[in-house]
Amino acid sequence: MKLLLVEDDTRLVETLRPKLKKAGYVVEWSDNGIDGEFMAMEENFDGIILDLGLPQKPGLEVLKTLRQSKLNTPVLILTARDSWQERVDGLKAGADDYVGKPFHFEELLARLEAILRRRFGQTGNTLEHNGLLLDLDSQTVNVNNQSIQLTAIEFRLLRYLMSNPGKIISKTILSEHIYEEDQLKDSNVIEVYINRLRHLFGKSLIKTYRGQGYQLVN
Ligand code: CA
Repeated sequence: MKLLLVEDDTRLVETLRPKLKKAGYVVEWSDNGIDGEFMAMEENFDGIILDLGLPQKPGLEVLKTLRQSKLNTPVLILTARDSWQERVDGLKAGADDYVGKPFHFEELLARLEAILRRRFGQTGNTLEHNGLLLDLDSQTVNVNNQSIQLTAIEFRLLRYLMSNPGKIISKTILSEHIYEEDQLKDSNVIEVYINRLRHLFGKSLIKTYRGQGYQLVN
């Protein structure tokens, strides 16, 4: 899952980013409203964490522009703790939820996962597919009464595939949702990880469409 974090408080970003990564997200960051809006429109994010007090363009205006442009990516806004007005304005402008500053990371993560679940039509904090049960908290898979711990990349890849069952997804899209922008994006590596997942969970789990991509078989 790929997230956009738009926040100008660099100290907050420094604490948030590693925690989000650990929770299995690829995080791209912008420290101002103009760049944040541009990135949100140009790239394909699964979710956006948007601070409202931003330099260059206020978060509320960014949000309004995104929604007017029919971008329906789930947005979690960060608001001032005591400002109910900000929350109301944010929700009216199309935010999916909010967290008041200062917040505990666990609350932000829970709210973020809730809006992503709603978007992907999931109910609990697990994904299920043909007898595979992926636990998003522990990043393990339960299959045939066995629990298998995944590596970070295996988890991100399987989570993305399980969130989009039946769709043919290109290597480029997969690598975008699995790696950070500044990391080496070698789409051949995707093939290696796809084969690791097949090795763990059965060859027929993921189908290859030559020149098109991969599909989690229903
Ligand atoms: Ca701010």
